[in-house]
This record gives sequence, structure tokens and C-alpha cells, in this order.
Amino acid sequence: MHVQNTKGLSDSMVGNQSAALYYVRRGRPVLPCFAVAPDRHCSCLKGPQCEHSGKHPRWERGTLEHGHKNATTDEHLIWRWWDEWPHANVGAPVLPGEMVLDVDPDNGGFESLRTLKLSMARYLDP
Ligand SMILES: [Zn+2]
Repeated sequence: MHVQNTKGLSDSMVGNQSAALYYVRRGRPVLPCFAVAPDRHCSCLKGPQCEHSGKHPRWERGTLEHGHKNATTDEHLIWRWWDEWPHANVGAPVLPGEMVLDVDPDNGGFESLRTLKLSMARYLDP
């Protein structure tokens, strides 16, 4: 069954607290970000006008005033944040030595990834 609440968010998104706990228990700091509704609009006040739908941190006085710098492994905060915002996306800052590759399937991302892997194969495989 697929149920949506008044903001158009589905029950399938409620497991984000579990995902956040999974990461922090492995030492990965996280923070809550706004969610994306099935209509692809952001859950922030800008809604359909938001240009970073579901990709920006929530704000809370005292704990979430500095965006990604507030990511934490403090389970008490993780429980409280996701109890307050159960549909919040899980945000994780990029740590030193890491990089992010954003694959956009709507714009040929998987084909680009395949091409990149083929071009880098001689450097990646011993
Ligand atoms: Zn937004």
C-alpha cells in the first residue's frame, strides 16, 4: 500500500531515520535535509519554486544553524531530528579524501558513467 500524507510524502520515506542510524553507527556524520514529495517538489517553504529540491539541510536553532557543518554521529540528535521530521532526507557531507559523482539518469547519466568507467579502466584495474 502506498499512502501519502497531507504534504504528499509517502510512507516509504519513513525509513530515513533507520538509514541515518545505519550511517552514524558506522561513524558517518549525517544531518536532516528537506524531503522531496512524489510530485518532485521540495518540502521546504519554497515548495515548487525551490531550486534544490530535497538537497538542502533543515534549519533548527542551536543544532542546525550551519548546514553541513552540523552533521553529527550523536544518536540522541539523530533520534530527535527524525522523530521531528520523519521524512527528512539523510544528508552526509563529503569527507576529506572522498569525491561525489552525481549520476543523472534523466540526462544520460548511466551512459556517461559507463563511458567514464571504460576510459578509466586501465587506471582502476591492476
Ligand atoms: Zn527546498
